[in-house]
Amino acid sequence: MSEPVVAVVGGGQLARMMTSAATALGLHLRVLVEQDDGATGRVSADAPVGLAGDEDAVLALVDGADVLTFEHEHVPSTVLAAVARRGVPVRPSAAALHHAQDKLVMRARLTELGLPCPRWAPVGTADDVARFLAEVGRPCVVKTARGGYDGKGVRLVRDAGAVSDWLADAAAGTGPALLAEEAVAFSRELAVLVARRPSGEVVSWPVVESVQRDGVCEQVIAPAPDLDPRTAAAAQRVARMVAEQLDVVGVLAVEMFEVPDMAGGPPQIVVNELAMRPHNCGHWTIDGAVTSQFEQHLRAVLDLPLGATAARAPWSVMVNVLGSDLDDLTDALPAVLADPEVKVHLYGKQVRPGRKLGHVTVCGDDLAQVRTRAVEAAARLRGELPRTHPTS
Ligand code: ADP
Repeated sequence: MSEPVVAVVGGGQLARMMTSAATALGLHLRVLVEQDDGATGRVSADAPVGLAGDEDAVLALVDGADVLTFEHEHVPSTVLAAVARRGVPVRPSAAALHHAQDKLVMRARLTELGLPCPRWAPVGTADDVARFLAEVGRPCVVKTARGGYDGKGVRLVRDAGAVSDWLADAAAGTGPALLAEEAVAFSRELAVLVARRPSGEVVSWPVVESVQRDGVCEQVIAPAPDLDPRTAAAAQRVARMVAEQLDVVGVLAVEMFEVPDMAGGPPQIVVNELAMRPHNCGHWTIDGAVTSQFEQHLRAVLDLPLGATAARAPWSVMVNVLGSDLDDLTDALPAVLADPEVKVHLYGKQVRPGRKLGHVTVCGDDLAQVRTRAVEAAARLRGELPRTHPTS
């Protein structure tokens, strides 16, 4: 067989969902997994075990591969450079990925491009933080430039003392650099998912609302309800510009804040974060859009024509299953699947408090009803509702 071989770094649920999409397209996915009984290791026929920072492991992974891509951004640039020297395309490239790895690099570039960001500044000392608070107002947000995810690495602070540990680590060179941002008074969080291929074709899905709890995405509503069309157009324009200007290949998620306009105009958007890979805000596309983000990412990194991004139903709601009282989530399937409209995606992970163990999506015509059913299905998978469906 000489089917295209796509090498992927990272063996979590994103690579697991990429695996299904690759199977459908007849592609060979080879995934570097952290452990062979993880989300992807359990389902992939070709999943060598190794770490993203292990150059030898990544070079072995790309041997004979057509392209290297990722399910997370935490791959050292030295490793990416070594892969590029072997002549294997790295998509997105190390230069593009840098903006998703380092929030200081991202903020500097977006500001240079004139894209809407919160007021921000690099901070290295308690004086820097105090000066920023005095200038921009209390509270502000301090972030680690690297290594943060799901809200770890983000603190709302009223004084420099609240980040003295981070400042000490940064000064000693044992922790990441830091930046301060204005605490944006947003009305809700939005996201735009786009895909771009090397030849330049760009497509995007409808703007979604993401509902966060404790810094973790809990629900995604597609499309974002009651979004002003002018705000939607601005969000799409910004996301497309990021993809083009940063030369992103593959799927890009641009997380944004919707901010009320004081002058009475349409709500404004402010960019929060970039992710250059399939993203939680796009899980709804598996069941709710013509082309899923996982299939699209594979198409894009192989420079194949991109698929249609239209929604298949007026509304889709995705709810994450974050932690569970059940040891085995499949115990809840009889009750959850008693609602025939519920689409369940379990990641085959060991249960731990707060961990992303799976998600459910419901699509339909009535947003309130779709949302209730999705929330209820996720609650059942968390073991929070009786295991038998009331109608069964
Ligand atoms: P992570 O990299 O951990 O996902 P984010 O930068 O996305 O971190 O921040 C996590 C959450 O913190 C956001 O979803 C948002 O709710 C909040 N947040 C981040 N930056 C700001 C900001 N400048 N103003 C207000 N809230 C913020």
